[in-house]
Parts: sequence; C-alpha cells; structure tokens
Amino acid sequence: MVKILDGKMVSQKIKDDVKKEVEELKQEGIFPKLAVIMVGSDPSSKIYVRNKSIACKEVGIEYEEYLLDDSITMDELLELINKLNNDDSVNGILLQSPIPKGLDINEAFKTIDPKKDVDGFNPCNVGKLCLGQEALISCTPYGIIKLLEEYGIDIEGKDAVVVGRSNIVGKPMMQCLLNKNATVTICHSKTIKLERVTKKADILVVAIGKPKFITKDMVKEGAIVIDVGINREKDGKLCGDVDFEEVSKIASYITPVPGGVGPMTIAMLMNNIVKATKMQNNKI
Ligand code: NDP
Repeated sequence: MVKILDGKMVSQKIKDDVKKEVEELKQEGIFPKLAVIMVGSDPSSKIYVRNKSIACKEVGIEYEEYLLDDSITMDELLELINKLNNDDSVNGILLQSPIPKGLDINEAFKTIDPKKDVDGFNPCNVGKLCLGQEALISCTPYGIIKLLEEYGIDIEGKDAVVVGRSNIVGKPMMQCLLNKNATVTICHSKTIKLERVTKKADILVVAIGKPKFITKDMVKEGAIVIDVGINREKDGKLCGDVDFEEVSKIASYITPVPGGVGPMTIAMLMNNIVKATKMQNNKI
C-alpha cells in the first residue's frame, strides 16, 4: 500500500520550529525580515508571492514587497537589489522568477548578497552546495530532502533519478541527493528513452512542468516518487508531473499535488530566512 509523503503536515512542523526561533531572535532585538521583488504580473508568481507573505506572517517574519513594472531596466533592478543588500534591516532577498525576457536573471541572482540569498540561487551558494559546504540551499530540493528524512527514508546508496535539469530545481536536487550519497542520474528533454532510466529509480524526482507526464509504466515497483510539478488542468484543478492515480498503485511512497513539495518549499524558505538572519548576526 502506497504511503503519502504529507508535505503539508511536515511543513507545519518546520514552520512551528521556525516560529519559536523567530520569537527567540526577537527577544534579543533581532527582527528577521524578507524582501520580495516581483517584476511584471505573471499570475502564478502572484500566487506564489502571496503564499510566501502568508507564511512569513504565520512565523512572525517581517515582510516587504517590491512590485515592479515589466518595463523596468536591468540597471534599475540591480539598483534595487543593491539597496536591499545594503539595508541592515533586510535579512533575506528573494527575486520571484520568471522575470521578463529582456532582463538577465542570472545577473540579478549574482547581485544578491550571498548572505541574504534565501533562495540559494547566487553562484556562491550554488558552488558551496556542490562542494558540500555550509550554504543557503535552494528551497525546493532542500525541502524534498527534509521530507524524505522526516519519513525515515534512507537516501544513501539508492539509485536516484531526477527528471528536469533547471537551475532552480533539477540541478540543485541532483547535488542534494549526491551529497546524501545517492547514485544520481539526471534526465532532460534530450534524454533518449526516458522510461529506460526512470524505471531504474529507487527515488524518482520529477520537475518538468508537464501534467501527468510520468505514467505507471515508467516507474519501478516500490519506487519513492517525488512530484515537483505544478500544472493547471483544463478544469482549473492543480496536478503534478506524475499521474498520481496510476503511479500510486505501484509506488511505495508518493507526494501529492497539491500538498507535497509545494508547502515544503515555503517552509524551507522560512527556515533559510532565519538561518540567514543568524549568519548575519554571527550566531552561526
Ligand atoms: P523549467 O521549465 O525551467 O525546466 C524544465 C526541465 O524539464 C528542463 O530541464 C527540461 O529539459 C525538462 N523537460 C521538459 N520536457 C521534458 C521531457 N519531455 N522529458 C524529460 N525532460 C523534460 O522548469 P522548473 O524546473 O522551473 O519547474 C518544473 C516544474 O516544477 C514546473 O511545473 C514548476 O511549476 C514546478 N515547480 C514547483 C515548485 C514547488 O515548490 N513545488 C518550485 C519550482 C518549480 P531541457 O533542459 O532539455 O529543456
């Protein structure tokens, strides 16, 4: 019988712990604050940003938002990031992606102070993750590792397959699994006979953005299946990249969409803001 990896429940526990840490910091006169920058009006981004603001409120983290018009220039965007870098009252800076095509997101991520880079996208944090050094780690992969650990799932020695190689999910996911001693394979749109690879996975992580793309015949019996995808079906309902109904018949563990990876991502963001605040105050 498949077990559901309940991201909603685990994320709540993490947020409860974060809330306690925030209260302790406040007693010392330290008030953790997140600044979110959003450029343009992507409807999904609006929902994600709103969810992040709600989570901040829940755990007591101060929150400020910069909603920029999509006509903004790169210089103006970098100027804002630098202003927030130099503002001692701001502990975390998050640039919501995507940003309009004419702007260079890599340059923007590179400009965010690595100590305030709560999304873990600055090359400095990406590099530290690769080297296995202490870093602010990208929230989605970090949340997935925490979810596996919470359910006592041993990663070491497992064959892990990551489908999707984006800089924000697939690549850091590969690195997080490798750091936990899994044997990792990463697949992408040019992978030939994808099912040949996915069928070997003890742990299968899917992050491609294609509704119900991973079907039962692509999954090994007893596999642990992590679905990162967030897609909207024609009727407006959310679904993942995995055909949950069919795949849950053969998987040993599976994450639902919604209620799996999504809430874990937000909880790890809260966790990273507290970590960044402590780093900036020489507490770790
Ligand atoms: P990107 O579009 O940046 O990357 C998609 C990746 O999937 C690419 O590497 C692409 O390959 C690969 N891919 C596309 N089609 C196929 C295919 N047919 N076979 C194999 N690989 C394929 O997406 P993101 O990584 O940003 O996001 C992926 C999904 O995860 C989305 O649904 C997004 O909404 C969701 N998401 C969810 C989060 C959460 O908290 N739950 C957080 C972030 C994202 P190639 O490189 O060759 O083009």
